[in-house]
Amino acid sequence: MPTYEEARSIVLESVAPAGAERVETGRALGRTLAEDVAASWPLPFCDNSAMDGYAVRADDCRGPARLRITGYIPAGGTASAAVEPGCAVKIMTGAPTPPGCDAVIPFEEASVADGHVAVKGRVAARQHIRFRGEDVREGDVVLPRGTLLRPPEISMLASLGKTFVPVYRTVRVAVLSTGDELIELGEPPSPGAIINSNSLAVAAAVRETGAVPVLLGIARDDIASHAGKISEGLKADALITTAGVSAGDRDLVREVLAETGVVSRFWKVDVKPGGPTAFGMKDGKPVFSLPGNPVSALITFEAFVRPALLRMMGRKRVVRPTVKATLAGEVRKKAGKVNFLRVGIDVRDGEYFASSAGDQNTGILRTMVLADALAVLPADRTSFAAGERVDVLLLGEILESSRE
Ligand code: AMP
Ligand code: MG
Repeated sequence: MPTYEEARSIVLESVAPAGAERVETGRALGRTLAEDVAASWPLPFCDNSAMDGYAVRADDCRGPARLRITGYIPAGGTASAAVEPGCAVKIMTGAPTPPGCDAVIPFEEASVADGHVAVKGRVAARQHIRFRGEDVREGDVVLPRGTLLRPPEISMLASLGKTFVPVYRTVRVAVLSTGDELIELGEPPSPGAIINSNSLAVAAAVRETGAVPVLLGIARDDIASHAGKISEGLKADALITTAGVSAGDRDLVREVLAETGVVSRFWKVDVKPGGPTAFGMKDGKPVFSLPGNPVSALITFEAFVRPALLRMMGRKRVVRPTVKATLAGEVRKKAGKVNFLRVGIDVRDGEYFASSAGDQNTGILRTMVLADALAVLPADRTSFAAGERVDVLLLGEILESSRE
């Protein structure tokens, strides 16, 4: 039985980026570059003023000086005439500096009367000028393949005139729930019926990665129903099933996957919750069989599925970094498995503090709702003292805690 890390490695070694496409830069947020992007021109494109002020020759301003104003270059204007000795040209931020100018005096440091600008003291050459190429030189690879496109990268791409960008394809992920007890949300409840929350929860988790979920609905606990839905699911780039993966007599998922040609890479991982998770591959497509319990399904998604989907979409950093948090109270567990403890996180004086989010039984969904993070408790340990620092996986925004 693989450990948490081994199982995750098996999954990550099995998947690869899914291919590339070109998308409009304005729609590329959250996507990953599939090719290096080199600068087609330098940034800035020409020397320009960093301030609203006066373009001057520094040589004229070695001490207090009075310069005749001979022109005006607004933003968007062009540097027509040069700055002659003893003269200054009024200039706005971003406007190209005129020939002869090697410094800009901001309005705040100049006074103007009778068409002349009075300079109070020495002006340093190059001050308040942004020089051609000082930010990016032409030909520089500014954004390497594998870069996640955030607002700054979008800004860079746009500044370099890139209308379209090569990005890895978004993956389509089939989501299948299994079980005779399930009804869909909106159907009338009855005793013994369980609302299929997993399809919606897993689809939401898929969407959070940037991938697109394809909902297949419910496979009933018979071979034909499973087989039909699983074949349909294998048309997507990845398939996630929930439930029916334990050792119960109606747990048919693994059997039908094997009959469909899905090659099993592991079944059962040394973690709690989420022990019965299975993983296999068919024609380069990953198939994740998550436990049915809604808490286990979401935790195993976090542990194994999310990193895989991110890798398929070209991301380099696919595992959330763990951070250290101080335990607010003592925690005990059995030896043998990594435990994912659902914890609330408080940030005090810049430090993380973790306290149990409640009953850790896998049947308790409320504790998952109250959790900001999963503390990853090592397999070999059994007790953790209050005040001890442990690894936690932050599950998202902790700025907005569900406990407030
Ligand atoms: P199983 O893995 O089939 O033994 O299911 C474990 C538990 O998860 C049972 O209590 C199921 O009713 C519950 N469960 C299974 N599938 C879903 C689902 N799609 N939505 C919500 N609960 C589910
Ligand atoms: Mg079942």
